[in-house]
Amino acid sequence: MRVNIDTDRCKGCELCVRACPQGIIDMATEINAKGYFYARVWDQPRCIGCKLCAITCPDIAIDVSVNGVQYEYFSY
Ligand code: SF4
Ligand code: SF4
Repeated sequence: MRVNIDTDRCKGCELCVRACPQGIIDMATEINAKGYFYARVWDQPRCIGCKLCAITCPDIAIDVSVNGVQYEYFSY
């Protein structure tokens, strides 16, 4: 499992933080190019690959890879 967050697309809404059943996403203490505190995965090995974070993100900033298959949601 690998979760990739495009930090510069993030608007700091924290929806992914609430969506993650493992509680492994939090907000960085630094800001991105837009001036928002961005989301980050702080304990990647505990990810179960549920993809809820990617489905929840309104800004399509997250993609998840499970066993080599990359999932992107509503990529436009
Ligand atoms: S895929 Fe699931 S477990 Fe992994 S970071 Fe996203 S919400 Fe959390
Ligand atoms: S849901 Fe998307 S935009 Fe909102 S904090 Fe998470 S990565 Fe950033």
